[in-house]
Amino acid sequence: MELFLISIMEYMDKASEMTNICSICGNEFSEYPNNPYPLSKGICCDSCNEELVIQSRLIKMRENDED
Ligand SMILES: [Zn+2]
Repeated sequence: MELFLISIMEYMDKASEMTNICSICGNEFSEYPNNPYPLSKGICCDSCNEELVIQSRLIKMRENDED
């Protein structure tokens, strides 16, 4: 029983490490966190990264090119 509890606690520890909260959409995600700069601080999920963060970086790059 003790061993069983320890393995559950180890599992919970790993599960909590895997749970990230996206600072853009607020959803929990388990994939590797992305850097949401320049849209937000902290971490963001893959879908926000692909749909929002990369787009905003492209826009920023275009703005910089025009200067
Ligand atoms: Zn997100």
